Amino acid sequence: MAITFICPENDTISWITALKTLDPTLDIRVWPGDEPKEEIEMALTWKHPPGTLTEYPNLGCICSMGAGIDHLLADPLLPDPDLPGNPTIVRLVDQRLADNMSEYLLLAVLYHFRQFDFYQAKKEERLWEPILPLEKKEMVIGIMGLGQLGEAAAKRLGETGFPVCGWRNSHKKIDGIQSFHGKGELDNFLSRARILICLLPLTRKTRHILNLDTFSKLPGGAYLINVGRGGHLKEIDLLTALDQKVLSGACLDVFQSEPLPGDHPFWQHPKIMLTPHISSQTNPMSVAPQIVSNLNRLRAGESLLNRVDIKKEY
Ligand code: NDP
Repeated sequence: MAITFICPENDTISWITALKTLDPTLDIRVWPGDEPKEEIEMALTWKHPPGTLTEYPNLGCICSMGAGIDHLLADPLLPDPDLPGNPTIVRLVDQRLADNMSEYLLLAVLYHFRQFDFYQAKKEERLWEPILPLEKKEMVIGIMGLGQLGEAAAKRLGETGFPVCGWRNSHKKIDGIQSFHGKGELDNFLSRARILICLLPLTRKTRHILNLDTFSKLPGGAYLINVGRGGHLKEIDLLTALDQKVLSGACLDVFQSEPLPGDHPFWQHPKIMLTPHISSQTNPMSVAPQIVSNLNRLRAGESLLNRVDIKKEY
């Protein structure tokens, strides 16, 4: 029996090396060309072509090659894991992924808090113009999505001395973090966040949650950091919010269309800092143990790690 990679946009060499390092006996294949399909028991996927996952009659597990599963749910022919005989769907949960995301967010927050965006603009004009520093205790950071990544980032930013609050679906107490949950507490959460970070999964409920109405509920001149998905942001609303000074700036790692088209207005916008979806990239060596562990669990008929409830969409 074998594993296949179905990830047309990704390089698989480092993944295969990582898995083979743990278990040199593994039979690992890459789509297309992974026949015979009956031998495939686990598929590692990232942006697979829709319908391909129905081609494997003995598939026991579909594993997202990242934390998000929106790329899986985009496939209308995704096998329903709740139906008997269909594969279980799992995602990757990894401390290194969380650490990398926390570092990116710390950098983005400090860049704004220490006003590097202002000094960068002054440098272009060759202007030596020191301004008053901002007050840390007033710089409340609001994190939308307090899951594996959001909670780790909240703790890291809190340790650095920033007041942090977070918003999630369900209620959960986290020491030192003011927690809000559900639609009913969203406005209260937004009214505090001078820096708004989006670390939500992309679902039907969260698509376009970063819109003008949301921005207008933040303290005036708040700063936006989006590391969730491009689909969370209504891009035209960000441009309006920046023009109208509802927001003072934004740092974006994810976009509606990736790679960001060359003629997109975000490239030239003086108030937007952007990176090419690199805030936290999956490290194959770090996640290989949980993949091999899930393969062994699958073979032993045991329940798998990091199962996804596709009804929740994350
Ligand atoms: P988790 O599933 O662990 O956490 C998701 C969080 O979002 C949970 O706190 C959940 O609430 C909350 N949530 C979901 N839906 C809603 C909603 N409708 N209203 C309020 N809260 C909601 O995910 P991760 O932390 O592992 O990852 C989050 C996302 O980060 C991924 O889905 C992916 O899109 C993105 N990501 C981006 C990367 C990048 O490089 N830019 C890298 C990796 C991930 P509750 O806790 O109550 O369930």
